[in-house]
Amino acid sequence: MTVIRVALPVPLRQSFDYQLPPPLQVQIGCRVKVPFGKRELVGVVWHIQPDDAFASDALKSVLHVVDEAPVLSERLCQLLSFAADYYHHPLGEVLIAALPALLREGKPLPDCQSRYYELTEDGQSASEADFKRSARQLALWQHLIQGPIDEKALLQQHERTTLNQLLNKALIRCQQKPFAPYTPAADHNTGLKLTTDQALVVSRIVQSQGQFQPFLLEGITGSGKTEVYLQSISPLLAKGQQVLVLVPEIGLTPQTLARFANRFAVPVLSWHSGLTDTERLNCWQHAATGSAAIVIGTRSALFLRFRKLGLIIVDEEHDSSLKQQDGFRYHARDLAVKRAALETCPVILGSATPSLESLYNSLQGRFQLLTLSSRATGQQLPKLELINLQQQTMRYGLAEQCIQRIHHTLKQGFQVMLFLNRRGYASALTCQECGWLSDCHRCDASMTWHKQSRQLICHHCGAIRPVPKQCGNCGSTRLVALGQGTEQLEEQLQPLFADYPLVRLDRDSTRRKGSLDQALQQIAAGGPQLIVGTQMLAKGHHFPLVTLVVIVDVDGALYSSDFRAPEQLAQLITQVSGRAGRAQHAGSVLLQTRYPEHSMLQDILHNGYDSFARLALEERQQTLLPPYLSLALFRTESLQDDVGQQWLQQLVELAQKLAPEIQLLGPIRAPLERKAGKYRWQLHCYAKQRRPLHQLLQQLIIEAERWPLSRKLRWQLDVDPIDL
Ligand code: ADP
Ligand code: ZN
Ligand code: ZN
Repeated sequence: MTVIRVALPVPLRQSFDYQLPPPLQVQIGCRVKVPFGKRELVGVVWHIQPDDAFASDALKSVLHVVDEAPVLSERLCQLLSFAADYYHHPLGEVLIAALPALLREGKPLPDCQSRYYELTEDGQSASEADFKRSARQLALWQHLIQGPIDEKALLQQHERTTLNQLLNKALIRCQQKPFAPYTPAADHNTGLKLTTDQALVVSRIVQSQGQFQPFLLEGITGSGKTEVYLQSISPLLAKGQQVLVLVPEIGLTPQTLARFANRFAVPVLSWHSGLTDTERLNCWQHAATGSAAIVIGTRSALFLRFRKLGLIIVDEEHDSSLKQQDGFRYHARDLAVKRAALETCPVILGSATPSLESLYNSLQGRFQLLTLSSRATGQQLPKLELINLQQQTMRYGLAEQCIQRIHHTLKQGFQVMLFLNRRGYASALTCQECGWLSDCHRCDASMTWHKQSRQLICHHCGAIRPVPKQCGNCGSTRLVALGQGTEQLEEQLQPLFADYPLVRLDRDSTRRKGSLDQALQQIAAGGPQLIVGTQMLAKGHHFPLVTLVVIVDVDGALYSSDFRAPEQLAQLITQVSGRAGRAQHAGSVLLQTRYPEHSMLQDILHNGYDSFARLALEERQQTLLPPYLSLALFRTESLQDDVGQQWLQQLVELAQKLAPEIQLLGPIRAPLERKAGKYRWQLHCYAKQRRPLHQLLQQLIIEAERWPLSRKLRWQLDVDPIDL
């Protein structure tokens, strides 16, 4: 009797064995249907015991084998096993993150791509005169003269009845293309002539074909990293290999996708949260069969199956959205390096502002450092000026000096970008009589005033309340806004610069479908205009007419308790600044602050991000913080305040017994002490060596799962956390 171990999509840490009754046969990576309690579940075969293994009669039998051939390749199984071990997360939940919903439900893989239509021989010899009586049929016929067209695309312009009419007349036929590896083709265009620096970088990357080699590409904003990616990919496509490009948020930068699709004459697909389940399954199959040459996707694209992966690119590798922030908290950048090792291919981590982790890895020799230190267009980096707010008269949150510079820039026909990382009208409402604040009842935070939608919204738990007319405490009507948000900045700037259009880019203004595209189009259409927005502006946009960037307020983030805050702020400032002067015209950046002497600002001002980052890394070494130490974080959430503290205290006592060399900090309260009505506590575990830390974590979890107290709270382990 064969016994198989099955990974099931359940949040449990144990593994599940089943008997495989003859004549059923499976391979590792195939899906099977098995009984689980009163339910039937679809799982993936993870291990097959040798034939003579002892099989207890108590083992239940597999009901049904779903796949003849594995849906998960051996390498993908290895990646998922590694991820489950490394992040100490139940394998079943890792599997949920990795498999498209329809595959988890046991649906078959599609064996044909979408349907398309083409003219039959009769259709080809037809002429306009044959369609005298139907303009619609004529239009369809004329469309198809150009060649075969996808059904979806056809139905956007023609009625299905028209299609059926021509089908009935046997003038057109419906075809289905089976999935098959793409046909290598010459590039649509050869691209730009590389600068000397770019050419050197590309040759290094191309030399590493077929080997595992991680690269850190540190290239200042506008240095032409995307061009480097394109030219590194080109020789791989000629060999029929595939490329995975991970990007932080695909919806924000449709330009990136367009640049890849316009360059290459092979299929380029995108993978992101906006796809339907069917589209996801199709994309999975395109990658798995090799019919897609390039997949550009957000972090979970990392788990796609590829037929022949030749290169992985992680663009904006410092971006926090590459880390999943709940449930299975993996970092797509780190797993991308692991995946490249398993696939024996190079991986490029690219950024103008590399994370200190990647910089550290390159200094340790684990990653090869490649640098681009000048802009591809020959333009200088924008000049950064600090505007000391202590000596300024202000209007609408802007120093007079800034207002004049904005006027001047617009008058010259250029665009101005104003960055304020606070959406909504104001971060709170307050009473001028008694000091009452619009606090959220369920979180330790105030609710943001959204004037246009006439709501108070908590940005932490999503709670919504109507805007009060009177103070909730003393009844006074003297309620005022506290903390300017983008909505307010927009409202105030409009009359001040009445002659110029203004575009706001934040999560509220772009929520409606198509509104982001519309805003990006307006900016691209040119002409002097103001662009007001949140960190959405920092994400790799290329707006050639922007020559002035104003950073309205970052002071709140200068003195944060999180040891990563300076790094994140330096990245944000550098990325936002990098939007200025990207084309022929020089750019400048004005940063308003009450703390012009702050060491991070001074360092960025005089020496740039790369110098700041190296100093920050030295500081981390002296103060013994990651990446010089490994860090793991236990988080708890509970309705009763003291339960989380108690639970973590038990963990501390156990950890001190098991591994006294591991440093513990906590239990301490989370920075946001209460969220959505739940109290939050943390325990930080630091260690010089990763291995003993991970051994301890494993032991702690096994014990903690048995504690009765564990049922009174929710706990999570975050390995290599990026927000504390
Ligand atoms: P990054 O991704 O590093 O911010 P991009 O790849 O967007 O930079 O390039 C910035 C600008 O420089 C783009 O307009 C691009 O077309 C241009 N560019 C890139 N490489 C070259 C080159 N070798 N010669 C001329 N222009 C280039
Ligand atoms: Zn009051
Ligand atoms: Zn709240």
